[in-house]
Amino acid sequence: MSDDNSVTSTEYKLETDSELRFEIENKNEKVTITLLSGHAELFGTELVVKKSYEFGVGAKVAIFTYHGCTLELRGKPDVAYVARETPMVQYLNANSALEQLRSKAEQDDLQGPVAMVVGPTDVGKTTLCRIFLNYAVRLGRRPIYVDLDVGQGGIAIPGAIGALLVERPAPAVEGFSQQAPLVYHFGHMTPSDNGVLYNVLISKLAETTLERLQANKRAKHSGMIINTCGWVKGGGYKHILHAVKAFEVNAVFVLDQERLYNELLRDVDRSVQVIFMPKSGGIVVRTRSQRAEARDNRIREYFYGSKMPLYPHSFDVKFSDVKIFKIGSPPLPDSCLPLGMKKEDNFTKLVAVQLGPHLLHHILAVSFADGSGENVIQSNVTGFICVTDVNMEKEVLTVLSPQPRPLPQSVLLLSDLQFMDSL
Ligand code: ATP
Ligand code: MN
Repeated sequence: MSDDNSVTSTEYKLETDSELRFEIENKNEKVTITLLSGHAELFGTELVVKKSYEFGVGAKVAIFTYHGCTLELRGKPDVAYVARETPMVQYLNANSALEQLRSKAEQDDLQGPVAMVVGPTDVGKTTLCRIFLNYAVRLGRRPIYVDLDVGQGGIAIPGAIGALLVERPAPAVEGFSQQAPLVYHFGHMTPSDNGVLYNVLISKLAETTLERLQANKRAKHSGMIINTCGWVKGGGYKHILHAVKAFEVNAVFVLDQERLYNELLRDVDRSVQVIFMPKSGGIVVRTRSQRAEARDNRIREYFYGSKMPLYPHSFDVKFSDVKIFKIGSPPLPDSCLPLGMKKEDNFTKLVAVQLGPHLLHHILAVSFADGSGENVIQSNVTGFICVTDVNMEKEVLTVLSPQPRPLPQSVLLLSDLQFMDSL
């Protein structure tokens, strides 16, 4: 095509320990990166020489080189520059320390390190987890990735927490593959919406993943990398302490915030290592609306895929074939509490939900539980569907689902999160 000639192409020669950063804000812009010579990696994933990698709107990327390289950038990103100050060498050293613990664990057939990454919003927590995981698999390890961030939800969907065995580096352009993750439904965008339930689910996820770790020798020696959300004050800090205990964390990496670092030094068990890590200067703070958009994209990706399009299924579900619940009811005043019931119990109460138009656009989790009661709350979920229509006359819901009909289970859990299917 003749207009191909008009595509701007720029060559960047990178020196040792530097990175090319770029950002794309324009919806119609695409940027292609090609490694012409040398070695380079994208958040720990090695680029293949001469292969083209395409990035679209929303991309905020850094391509790093330890020993120098030449990159070609085609297209017009909103920002593109080479940075020579990066914390990558510190991240690599931290990984080497984890790797030593893994080797030791392998020798003695013990459990490898459980590492957690914490810090305020927009400091690169998710990116550091990705780098750690990629480095680990490149060294032949099989770590478990745990994501406790219900706001962005890297595993499955926002509003959920989960774990995933990582067996290969993340593709440069997408995230880790989502084969059979272990997922628990929380149903809110922020832990503060139901802190009691959030802690219950953290404990349950911890128990299950620690058990699974024992079942697979390679995973056992490799350990875990745990991602968290950016709420680090007050209640958020308490959730971090709870997670450190529940997951029997050995090392906490604190990004950027000295205050949080010092608080953790003071409050965690002596056996837990607390390590301060600088954040990368390349990270741009996201606005509220950019966050909401990222969340929306994450849900769209769950149903439609990102690069390789998935075709979700749409089908009808009879009201009579499902039971919908939500977890938690508004707290009762003390005087109204039934005998023997604690105030907290309300937060983990299973409440039946009437089927009706109010369900429209809502995400529903499909629970593995077959009955109702206690076990539903602590059961993991098979996946998520989205209500795209409610027909009161015919008494059917139309749902969007990543799997074909029928629904594998009949117990559904209502989420606060909504998704407008606009395709
Ligand atoms: P949140 O609080 O939302 O969970 P976070 O602390 O997990 O944020 P990341 O999501 O890891 O932060 O990073 C924020 C953004 O910055 C991402 O879009 C990421 O791709 C980008 N980013 C990370 N490191 C760099 C870098 N070195 N150069 C440019 N962009 C970067
Ligand atoms: Mn994150």
